[in-house]
Amino acid sequence: MSAKHDYDAVVVGSGPNGLAAAILLQQNGLSVLLLEGKNEIGGGLRSAELTLPGFTHDICSAIHPLAAGSPFFQQLPLEEHGLEYIYPPVAAAQPFDNGTAAVLKQSIEETAKLLGADEQAYLQLMQPIVNEWPSIAPDVLGPLHFPAHPLAMARFGFPALTSATHLAKRFKTAEAKGLLAGMAAHAMQPLSNAATSAIALVLMANGHLKGWPVPKGGSNRIANALASYFVSIGGKIETGVNVTSLQQLPSSGAVLFDVSPRQLLQIAGHKFSTIYKWQLERYRYGMGVFKMDWALDGPIPFKAEGCTDAGTVHIGGTLQEIVDSEQQIWNGKHTEKPYVLLAQQSLFDDTRAPAGKHTAWAYCHVPNGSTTDMTTIIENQIERFAPGFKERILAKHTMNTVQVEEYNPNYIGGDINGGVIDLGQLFTRPALRWSPYKTSAKGLYLCSASTPPGGGVHGMCGYYAAKRVLKDMGISVQAF
Ligand SMILES: Cc1cc2nc3c(=O)[nH]c(=O)nc-3n(C[C@H](O)[C@H](O)[C@H](O)COP(=O)(O)OP(=O)(O)OC[C@H]3O[C@@H](n4cnc5c(N)ncnc54)[C@H](O)[C@@H]3O)c2cc1C
Repeated sequence: MSAKHDYDAVVVGSGPNGLAAAILLQQNGLSVLLLEGKNEIGGGLRSAELTLPGFTHDICSAIHPLAAGSPFFQQLPLEEHGLEYIYPPVAAAQPFDNGTAAVLKQSIEETAKLLGADEQAYLQLMQPIVNEWPSIAPDVLGPLHFPAHPLAMARFGFPALTSATHLAKRFKTAEAKGLLAGMAAHAMQPLSNAATSAIALVLMANGHLKGWPVPKGGSNRIANALASYFVSIGGKIETGVNVTSLQQLPSSGAVLFDVSPRQLLQIAGHKFSTIYKWQLERYRYGMGVFKMDWALDGPIPFKAEGCTDAGTVHIGGTLQEIVDSEQQIWNGKHTEKPYVLLAQQSLFDDTRAPAGKHTAWAYCHVPNGSTTDMTTIIENQIERFAPGFKERILAKHTMNTVQVEEYNPNYIGGDINGGVIDLGQLFTRPALRWSPYKTSAKGLYLCSASTPPGGGVHGMCGYYAAKRVLKDMGISVQAF
């Protein structure tokens, strides 16, 4: 431990980014204290019996291509700390009204073949990205800097920086266009926006390289494994400490905040320069989510074959339908036929529900701060592609955007990405600075999803923030 301070570093917030930051610092010889406001660690990685006894639901994140493919998490011995991923045979399916579905499988050839007339177009788009992904992933999932592999990065960057609606023009079939739309809609913004293709390409590449797994037992197993590893290398965790002021913190050489810019302003705003404060105040939060979980009497009776083997189902129909609904929500309106992201973990993980019973998890996008109850609308969308779904419901649990934010203060207005991830905020989140992780106050850093590369469970915001701290302390870290 530092002679001058109680700890070398304090991390506030134990989401995947807080945990990643704490681990990298501790691994590099610092003494680290991780503080969590809630009684349980994990942030977006918690699971609980939300409906009935014996049914385990993921409260926030459920599907983990980004965690399984994370360049940092992959280096950690998480299996030894209880993490086991289960890979559904179909990563994601996109059902259509005619009873068919486009599917993303681990095999790129099989995925392409099922797209018929778009087989070659799909291979031409995805094969180079899949081949080069391991070398470009640390650059794609990091702050703006000169890439280690510029040519490979350029081959990813050209399609990635276009809008999903533009990229979809490469395809002829409704199936390929729909599959792309379902992937791109994870961006939570109009699909005509520049760079909405990036998230689709990242998700599809990860699907082909590793698949889209669910953690056996629940998403909390990822947080528990990270925390267990952190403690095993000497880290310290305290829960139930909601930090509202810097005075609450023990003395340390650096404080890293796994919080939103809005909370950061409340906690440490008085320390910041006028320009930095001005930038944080103007930081934009995006669409929110209406979240649902169900206990079911049986599996969801999807009409399309591919959906019953899929961990994730993107419900929303055609490209045009998803484009229209995402645009409408972005404009502050609700829609009768939203894009619904659905996961059916218990089909592959029998620890999630009693024998013969099942769980389902879903959310749809809604305007930021919406309190509209989307239960019937979401259930109607599922029923459209899975007639008989409603009859299988034993119990349900819902959270509107206000409840999502009450549950986790980082999700401002229900925005699960820590702020809009459009071109204006992709690399400069939360502010235009040489290092987005460094605040204007000495020793204070931001490490949440409100820094590059943004939302999702990958820990890379925390990794890069911690790397910055180490650099400022004169400690260099090996690149991947
Ligand atoms: C409904 C939903 C579904 C999602 N689905 C997926 C998915 O399937 N796959 C995926 O990859 N991602 C998904 N996400 C997104 C993902 O969960 C987040 O992007 C990710 O958790 C962000 O990590 P983080 O570490 O930045 O913040 P968080 O996970 O939000 O963690 C922040 C932590 O900091 C704590 N904290 C905040 N303020 C304070 C304070 N003042 N004092 C002390 N502690 C504080 C919070 O309690 C929380 O534990 C989903 C999110 C939601 C809400």
